[in-house]
Amino acid sequence: QETKKKLDSKELENEQLHKALNKAKREAERAVVAKDNFLSNMSHEIRTPLNAIIGFSDILKKEKLNDSQIDLIDTISNAGENLLSIINDILDLSKIESGQFLLEKKPFSPAKALKAVCEMQSEKATEKNIKLEKEIDDTVPELVLGDVFRLSQITTNLINNAIKFTQDGFVKVSASADLLDDDNCTLTIKVQDSGIGIPEDKQQLVFERFTQADAATSHKFGGTGLGLNIVKLLVDKFNGSLSLESKVGEGSVFTVSIPFKIERELEEAKQKEIP
Ligand code: ADP
Repeated sequence: QETKKKLDSKELENEQLHKALNKAKREAERAVVAKDNFLSNMSHEIRTPLNAIIGFSDILKKEKLNDSQIDLIDTISNAGENLLSIINDILDLSKIESGQFLLEKKPFSPAKALKAVCEMQSEKATEKNIKLEKEIDDTVPELVLGDVFRLSQITTNLINNAIKFTQDGFVKVSASADLLDDDNCTLTIKVQDSGIGIPEDKQQLVFERFTQADAATSHKFGGTGLGLNIVKLLVDKFNGSLSLESKVGEGSVFTVSIPFKIERELEEAKQKEIP
């Protein structure tokens, strides 16, 4: 009788605990949804006036203006662009973290995607006297199945950083692939720079949100500490891996490895078209 009483009260205790836990879970989930909605609404509200600031400064630049007026308008326009990219990063982070985030699965050419990303960054590299090199190994399949937009976002963020933290040197982007079987490969993209490098004790921290390796230099170079966090979250979504080797004063190498299904049907269809 005594043991049964004890068991009953234990069961009751467990049930109460279970209920409390579920309640806390529901509340936490509601808080996350509220935070995501808030971020998303705020970002949209900020984006509209920002687009007006950027758009109208670009129109103003076409008027007859003296050099110092052009400089001022350029400053307004650049500040607007910077703010817009921060807002876009915040919006993107909450999107990637939300349960509904899915990667596309469409055929694309990794070589063409990397070429496009490098071309977009080449002007910035030239301005800083950086040689931007690209090397695509023969092992990289012509077509793979996946999300080209998100893969390009990963490489853009890495190349952007490599250029930002380098002056008068090189940035080398290389890609290679390891065949796992007939239909699958691991694509490895390396972004190497000869820039300022990252101290060993900061190398894991830089992937965390809002974290910068060194407050003083980061202040000089600008940025928010969101780029690498987005890279890390996206690489996780791709079921890939991410690593960093770096030495202060010598440079850094970021390596991303992602599994991809190789698209062969389109390749074969293309070959059949050739007489
Ligand atoms: P942001 O560049 O906007 O500050 P990131 O998340 O992209 O944010 O990078 C976080 C920090 O990591 C940077 O502030 C910088 O200190 C360091 N970092 C990233 N990439 C490099 C690089 N290629 N060379 C040196 N430091 C880097």
